[in-house]
Amino acid sequence: MKIRRNDIVVVLRGRDQGKQGKVLQVLVEERRAVVEGVNLVTKHLRKSQDNPKGGIIKKEAPLAVANLKLFCAACKKGVRVARVLEGAKRVRKCKGCGQVFDS
Ligand SMILES: [Zn+2]
Repeated sequence: MKIRRNDIVVVLRGRDQGKQGKVLQVLVEERRAVVEGVNLVTKHLRKSQDNPKGGIIKKEAPLAVANLKLFCAACKKGVRVARVLEGAKRVRKCKGCGQVFDS
């Protein structure tokens, strides 16, 4: 997967197109990711012991990784990444400016 937890990504498609956010969770099997503040859906909570009143909350729904791009601080935009070997480590590099994302 080109996207990992704590990455900053840009949304390419959908309601939140153009938004940026931090990746909170990656669902590898589904090829989806949860991005902070993006793709919020309204959830109606049933009354429970934790939450005796029930209610309505906003929660991030997972987005397809195909609709996300890694944000490069140097390029100031979403970029494509290359996976390269640096020593014994596989790192991700910006295809625009060559910046390494995993240090
Ligand atoms: Zn770059």
